Amino acid sequence: MQKFSYHTHTNFSDGSNTLQQMLQQAVALGWEEIGVSDHLIIHKNIKQSITYNNMISRARPDMYHSDFKKALPFFNKHAEQFRKISKQYPLKVYLGYEVDFFTYDGWREEFNEFINQLDHDYLLTGNHFFTNVDSTQIIDISQYKKCKEVRVGDSLENYLRRHYQTIAQAVESGLFTFLAHLDYARKIPEHQKYPMVAERMQIVDSLRKYNVACEISTKGLRKIGDFFPENNIIQELIKQKIPLLISDDAHKTEELGYAFDKAEKVLNLAPNTVRFRLNKCL
Ligand SMILES: [Zn+2]
Ligand SMILES: [Zn+2]
Repeated sequence: MQKFSYHTHTNFSDGSNTLQQMLQQAVALGWEEIGVSDHLIIHKNIKQSITYNNMISRARPDMYHSDFKKALPFFNKHAEQFRKISKQYPLKVYLGYEVDFFTYDGWREEFNEFINQLDHDYLLTGNHFFTNVDSTQIIDISQYKKCKEVRVGDSLENYLRRHYQTIAQAVESGLFTFLAHLDYARKIPEHQKYPMVAERMQIVDSLRKYNVACEISTKGLRKIGDFFPENNIIQELIKQKIPLLISDDAHKTEELGYAFDKAEKVLNLAPNTVRFRLNKCL
């Protein structure tokens, strides 16, 4: 059984528990390592998003940033605290971030400059937004159903297509060690009408070509009763020998290691599954 998670959140972003509480629970589970990956979301027009008010009502408003230069001291101060606290626990603690990747002109350059000055151990990419064509306007996928204005902006089919294309670009950017919840957009039930098979297979292809790992997320079990990604994609990932890891995407202590036994069963069905470990790539 996998005894670590590299995709976890604390109350620094939208988790319920402190870093101390999460680490204590990881130790109690007998884990020898953990990666903490709070959200890193920086988009120049985030405050103009039509879902912004809903976003800040369910998470700390200061987890959403519009300015790279202002965000840098905020994150580095967090890192300083993080390193001090994590030293006090008897397990290896990695400082990671779950990054939303955007494709508007200039984002990549600013992000590169930012990340070069940011204290961190690894980055994963988890994409939570729909965008307009040039990615300058964003919509939080988890607020899609609640926000009527969203649906007049563009069709769900177009939003989904761009979303999956953005994820493929994130994978190809070379910035990330692994991809989170590949088809998290399945939490919108109408997604079923637009299977996006080619788009999701393109992501698998990009993972293989760019040697990026992929998570099997048990968060899907909590949200929609199925893993992210869905089974036919998991089987393709295994076939293509993409390094895989199980993630709980824990937002509270009780979610650490959530349903890992179920995910292990899926992975153990295939004899040659390649498993991902951070220490192999850092
Ligand atoms: Zn996520
Ligand atoms: Zn997450």
